[in-house]
Amino acid sequence: MFILWSLFEKNTFAHPVESVIDIGGHFNTMSDTGQSYFPDGDADTYQIEYYDAKTVVREQKRSGNINLNPYQGCWHDCVYCDGKAENYHMHEDFGTRIKVKQNSPELLEAYLKKKGLIPINRKHTGTLLDFSEDMKQDIENEPDFTVCIGGGVCDVYQPAEKEVKMTRRLLQMAVDYNIPVFILTKNKLILRDLDLLVKINETSKATVAMSVAFDSDDIQKIFEPNASSTTERFETLATLADAGIHTGIWAMPLIPWIADTDENMEAVFRRAKEAGVEWMLAGGLTLKPGRQKDAFMRTIEKHYPELLDKYLALYGNNNKWGIPDIPVAKSLGLVDSHDKGKKLAKKYGMVAQGWFGDGKW
Ligand code: SF4
Repeated sequence: MFILWSLFEKNTFAHPVESVIDIGGHFNTMSDTGQSYFPDGDADTYQIEYYDAKTVVREQKRSGNINLNPYQGCWHDCVYCDGKAENYHMHEDFGTRIKVKQNSPELLEAYLKKKGLIPINRKHTGTLLDFSEDMKQDIENEPDFTVCIGGGVCDVYQPAEKEVKMTRRLLQMAVDYNIPVFILTKNKLILRDLDLLVKINETSKATVAMSVAFDSDDIQKIFEPNASSTTERFETLATLADAGIHTGIWAMPLIPWIADTDENMEAVFRRAKEAGVEWMLAGGLTLKPGRQKDAFMRTIEKHYPELLDKYLALYGNNNKWGIPDIPVAKSLGLVDSHDKGKKLAKKYGMVAQGWFGDGKW
């Protein structure tokens, strides 16, 4: 999760933790190919809990789109993830124990029905359409919103999705109801669902953004230990683009002195262009005081000890939204990575916009 600090406004990602009424945890740890689902194959460290949530749909006031966050927690365990920040009220072992809202498809379907929509692409709709196929041509069933799957305190293609298959079920619902979708991820697992994304794109619109902030796979691994590598992400984007899916990158968080350098940003944008990416959004790093900032500083201390003092000064203001101290940033020679990204987008012929642009992808 990210906040654009250069364009900062009140964070809209937060959503309350719902009550856990059913905790499971046991599941098959091996995929069909015999590979472990767990990052590094460590089955003792990683846990999945299932529960019935009261809600899963969150309406975005400005765009009218809806957000679905079927998971809480994320095995990608990015060092900078602001889902770790206390104000999200997530569980402390957010990076290893995830909670799955197992009734998400049912909750989504109830929402869509309430909106008057019909699953026109389903074999049996449970309506009069089952008796008159021709009527399908005439009915008004075009939702005026996009379903954004994930983007909250989870990545919906984190490794656990291989087992849970929740995102696939939600995509199938989008196919059934002919609804446009937007997905943000850091994992090549999205290609498992290429068939559904293509179906959605045939009659509606499927848009995928991958966040890519580091050119080097080695540096990326330090900050995003369990996500797909940068190389794999660009390969994934190229495959999606070849299949006609609209793709973009979120080049963020562009970590000061490491990812916001000219060399790194230039390489990321060039590779994005080569992968057929249509649009981009660049942004800096926010660090909320508490767990999120502590985790990040520990990593800097370990891997970039020479930068620690600068980071401590830059985020020494302990801004509650994690925005760095702007006068300190200027005095340390930092430039706005968002603006820098816009210039690079222009250079590489990509649209400089993010989130949902005009509100409707
Ligand atoms: S992929 Fe996103 S939600 Fe998951 S740990 Fe990384 S930043 Fe957090």
